[in-house]
Amino acid sequence: MNQTHDPALRSWVTSANVPNADFPIQNLPFAVLRRAGTDERFRPAVAIGDHALDLRALHATGIAPSEGLEACLDDTLNRLMGEGARVWSALRADLSALLAEGSEHAPALQSCLIALGDVEYRVPAHIGDYTDFYTSIHHATNIGRLFRPDNPLLPNYRWVPIGYHGRSSSIGVSGQTFPRPCGQLKPPDAERPEVGPCRRLDYELEIGIFIGPGNALGDPVDIDDAESHVFGLCLLNDWSARDIQAWEYQPLGPFLSKSFATTISPWIVTMEALEPFRSPWERDTGEPGALPYLSSARNSAAGAIDMQLEVLLQSAAMRDSDVAPQSLSRSNFTDAYWTVAQMVAHHTVNGCNLRPGDLFGSGTMSGNQEGSQGALIEITRGGVAPITLGNGEERTFLQDGDTVILRAHCEREGAVRIGFGEAGGTVLPASSA
Ligand code: MN
Repeated sequence: MNQTHDPALRSWVTSANVPNADFPIQNLPFAVLRRAGTDERFRPAVAIGDHALDLRALHATGIAPSEGLEACLDDTLNRLMGEGARVWSALRADLSALLAEGSEHAPALQSCLIALGDVEYRVPAHIGDYTDFYTSIHHATNIGRLFRPDNPLLPNYRWVPIGYHGRSSSIGVSGQTFPRPCGQLKPPDAERPEVGPCRRLDYELEIGIFIGPGNALGDPVDIDDAESHVFGLCLLNDWSARDIQAWEYQPLGPFLSKSFATTISPWIVTMEALEPFRSPWERDTGEPGALPYLSSARNSAAGAIDMQLEVLLQSAAMRDSDVAPQSLSRSNFTDAYWTVAQMVAHHTVNGCNLRPGDLFGSGTMSGNQEGSQGALIEITRGGVAPITLGNGEERTFLQDGDTVILRAHCEREGAVRIGFGEAGGTVLPASSA
């Protein structure tokens, strides 16, 4: 850790100093944005309190001629992501000093600030490839039990960080809306499938992992080098059509049940900002260790990340009567069976090349306790145990007009709490039937 993590550090942007703010000066996450309702070019920015520091505007002032800032002139973060940890860290140190209380540049930087209430975001990188993992053993077991009651957890699960190749074209940023997907449905007792709007629409509470510098084709990434290939983390909702999924998933895995929409939060929290919140990677007694390419002393000592996650729902009726979103569950990224470094090492062990801006999903993060299940299919046990919302509405799966919001933060004694903002998305009625 370094000066940028100092809990005593405060900013001249005073909203950053409010206790429990998502974006204190110790966080400094990156997004791509512009003033809402304008046709300005999108540009990279860093969050500070309830403002964004426009990095293209900062570059134009000439105050901070850092190498990292040169990489922030595009309308995506891919160039910065490709630069690597040395450049990211130097840029973070510069931004921290510029935004710290007492900075001589505060007056000149005022014109580079935009209120977060006045911005619109875009997906922060060009995402070439998107891979979704399945790293919560609790989620895998809960889902497996519903899809295969006699055989919930397949034998490869404890050895292979399971994943599938997702669809990047339908990834949207918080605020995304999409029509309820249509597809082939086959109720278990029906003789033939039919086509129509999904009836079992679900969310999945996941962490998004943005890749930094890539690796050459044929060149696996060593587990101890893996995190140098990771730019940072965001929130990710892997919307899922469970009825389409149940019919299509064997033998090659999810396809149209997942590819219609994925929503991410706009702000990417860097791995450096997450330093104070690292945890040992631990497994319960009786679980096997990992194979050598997925094992290292460093990964065991601090491979996990203590990130508290929450999913909330606001129905159309709640929205119309100004009822706040209601919390459905809470879990933690330490519930994962595999770490970020293990995901990178596994993804590349066959020589597969990653590129800057590639995105991983962690898989639904469910814990092993009641109230920690990261998807409705788990909470309602496959749709047989509806939940009742505060206003009396019932849900087994999502209804048209429902907004699902993911939130997360990291909090630990001796560190300043940092937040991830949120990833919200809304289901619209099916556009065809
Ligand atoms: Mn998923």
